[in-house]
Amino acid sequence: MTEVQEIEKSAIELPRHKQVVIIGGGVIGCSVAYHLTKLGWQDVVLLERNQLTAGTTWHAAGLVEANGFFDETSIEMAKYTRELYQTLEAETGQSTGYKPVGYLEFATSASRLEGLRRIAEFNRGFDVQVEEISPSEIKRMLPLARTDDILAGFFCAEDGRVNPIDATMALAKGARMGGVQIFEEVEVTGVQQNNGRVTGVVTKLGEIEAEYVINCAGMWARQIGQMAGVNVPLHAVEHYYLITEPIEGVTPDYPVISDLDRYAYYREETGGLLLGLFEPIAAPWGMNGIPKDFSFGEIRPDWDRMMPYIEEAMKRFPVMQHAGIHKLFCGPESFTPDMAPLMGEAPELKNFFVAAGFNSLGILLGGGVGRVIAHWIVNGLPDVDVSEINIARMLPFQNNPKYLRDRTVEVLGMMFKEQFPNRQYDTARHVRRSIFHERLAEAGAYFGAYAGWEYPDWFAPKGVEPRVEYAWGRQNWFEYSEAEHRAAREGVVLMDYSVMGKILVQGRDAEKALNRICANNIAVPIGRIVYTQWLNELGTIEADLTVTRLSEDQYLILTGDGTRTAVLAWLQRNIPSEAHVFVTDINSAYSVLNIQGPKSRHLLSRVTNADLTNEAFPYLTTQEIDIGYAPVRALRVTYVGELGWELYIPTEFSLHVFDTLVAAGQEDGLVYAGLQALDSLRLEKFYRDFGNDVDNMDNPLEAGLGFFVDFDKPGGFIGREALLQVKQTGILKYRMVQFLLEDPEPLLHYGETIYKDGKRAGYIRSGGYGHTLGGSVGLGFVENQEGVTRDYIDSGGFEIDIAGDRYPARASLRPLYDPQLERVRC
Ligand SMILES: Cc1cc2nc3c(=O)[nH]c(=O)nc-3n(C[C@H](O)[C@H](O)[C@H](O)COP(=O)(O)OP(=O)(O)OC[C@H]3O[C@@H](n4cnc5c(N)ncnc54)[C@H](O)[C@@H]3O)c2cc1C
Repeated sequence: MTEVQEIEKSAIELPRHKQVVIIGGGVIGCSVAYHLTKLGWQDVVLLERNQLTAGTTWHAAGLVEANGFFDETSIEMAKYTRELYQTLEAETGQSTGYKPVGYLEFATSASRLEGLRRIAEFNRGFDVQVEEISPSEIKRMLPLARTDDILAGFFCAEDGRVNPIDATMALAKGARMGGVQIFEEVEVTGVQQNNGRVTGVVTKLGEIEAEYVINCAGMWARQIGQMAGVNVPLHAVEHYYLITEPIEGVTPDYPVISDLDRYAYYREETGGLLLGLFEPIAAPWGMNGIPKDFSFGEIRPDWDRMMPYIEEAMKRFPVMQHAGIHKLFCGPESFTPDMAPLMGEAPELKNFFVAAGFNSLGILLGGGVGRVIAHWIVNGLPDVDVSEINIARMLPFQNNPKYLRDRTVEVLGMMFKEQFPNRQYDTARHVRRSIFHERLAEAGAYFGAYAGWEYPDWFAPKGVEPRVEYAWGRQNWFEYSEAEHRAAREGVVLMDYSVMGKILVQGRDAEKALNRICANNIAVPIGRIVYTQWLNELGTIEADLTVTRLSEDQYLILTGDGTRTAVLAWLQRNIPSEAHVFVTDINSAYSVLNIQGPKSRHLLSRVTNADLTNEAFPYLTTQEIDIGYAPVRALRVTYVGELGWELYIPTEFSLHVFDTLVAAGQEDGLVYAGLQALDSLRLEKFYRDFGNDVDNMDNPLEAGLGFFVDFDKPGGFIGREALLQVKQTGILKYRMVQFLLEDPEPLLHYGETIYKDGKRAGYIRSGGYGHTLGGSVGLGFVENQEGVTRDYIDSGGFEIDIAGDRYPARASLRPLYDPQLERVRC
């Protein structure tokens, strides 16, 4: 810093109190500031360590694309951003440099073509106008491009490019016009808190008290998080582009192009071509923390590493091979372990929000991110599905630097890889392994990863290598998983269920406190299992789990491990501080085996003294039983729709119980089953999967879970009044429906459009193959302004679009498999 700057800086007088402090003046911080003013919040200050855009924003390539996402929230955020960049100038007088030159993606293989067709159809459902165009049309549009290997292109005329600095400046100007104070050259050096709530920030120029602090510090956000005791799992990775000298025929209206199979994107820049790369394995950066003084910085490029990718990418535009290189640029960008941003209130600290980790999409999502975060802060809840972006989905171990470094280098490349169903990361694996892992590996398990756990996805028969061959059609494990499915329906299966998150809630007030949080009534006799949702004040779903009463003052909460952080935070925030309640995360204390199928009683009866008859051990109850020499907490419950028990086994007894069950199971033909079989079984039974089929925007009545809501219990529950209003309207315009394709061949995965009498009516939230029902099964919400009644559903006319082809489907509001629960209650 120069002497003049030092003097100017010491002259800065910071406010002592503000309602909101935003840390970071990149596109995200400025967008959040701008959007807070739109919602009427003006008492906001933004602090930037250097100058606005000095972090990552200044050097972004500025690609803007609404097409290309495969989830509703990202599409909404990208679409909104695209519109905002076109209207900000009229409002602020500052241009964003937005040019709707169009965005074109190439498919050069049959599977890529199918994938892009699926994504394009999904996007059309949200009014993103994507056209499939032929290679000859591409040739006409891009005479300089080689097109002989292209099968088709997907063109979105409204997409284009923006100038990231100008867009940020326009947002900053709009924010200032709305009353926000912006200070440059002010570094936040500490975050203050009291009693679990953020209270302000520390700078060299003094402290600012605040009710809310928003961490928009880009790749520094992890370090800011550490100041606050908040996990912000992201890591910087090198991202490259080069710019050629001017090329004849490359004009300013050249479309943006993604050549996904060459990991490359292209756009015009000062008469030449800008070529950016998403190579399969990138290089990590900033392993010892991001330098504090890295401003408008560049990284020294590693030409040797990048050359093979550059050469390959230049083959698309052979003219590049002879054009001079004007610049080879390498800059850092933050990536997250699962390629989705980290947004929302930190589970560790009340009123401390994060908006970081944009995986090279911060410019094109920036407007929408600001809108969503501002809404979330001002209204207390988000107004979009946040299942995939909520920072609360992350577990503490994911902030481990080695894990982040190893994983994020693969995430960069994943941006352009084919998003096959069931796609797994290869890096940072074997982080969490259940105690049964080696036994299951020996039995032929193919492992997927969920929340760091290695879980068996399916089992290869003897002599077959457990390796997946990705495809949109039937993958190589289809038949193996079918055999597991059939064993669950006809015999008995064993599943490793250790990925379940386990939480103990104890204390004199446990019943009262939990009953206020649960929509169902958990004031039940000891030993009962209650399936319930947790709702927010709007009556929409925050969690979907079971609560089991272990004793007068003890409850066991079971939830997916990926939602454990969010569930713990919800408990923390909604149990009154004066209540006599203690919440303990007991995740590692137990491993879990799931024994399911009509022969499960016969198998278990031979290894326990407990009476497992229906009378002695009814459905939705629990008992502590012995298995072999071990004490085991057995829950009679099912997620597959058969007779079965989940066994919670103290860790040190786990292998003994496993071996005991496997030995006894020989007589019953016990089969190992993986999560693919589980998914197929639960889809047939119309069991919802929170975060996939149902999310924070859905209420239990629309989701078909009204049966599990007790409106009349004493004391009510959070969200009751809002939900009651929905109920009293007497009509549901939006409702979850189960579908079965009539044609047994095509496969449903996710995102396929539902048509009713030729009109778009919704999309499939999750799909899989129902081996018992004999076709693909999908769950999706259907919308109809006159009401989604049984008559409406029974009148038929449903079709589901898969990559451009429509297939007739049977629709139902009740499970197509065992609607009377006869198989479960026997
Ligand atoms: C080569 C390259 C090309 C890209 N191309 C595109 C593209 O085409 N389209 C797209 O959408 N995205 C693109 N991106 C990604 C995009 O640039 C980022 O996602 C986006 O800029 C992130 O914005 P941000 O505001 O989160 O972070 P930043 O811009 O880094 O802003 C964070 C700010 O916080 C400040 N800060 C840090 N610590 C403190 C502190 N202690 N106190 C105060 N202030 C602090 C920093 O100085 C910085 O200005 C690209 C990225 C790279 C590297």
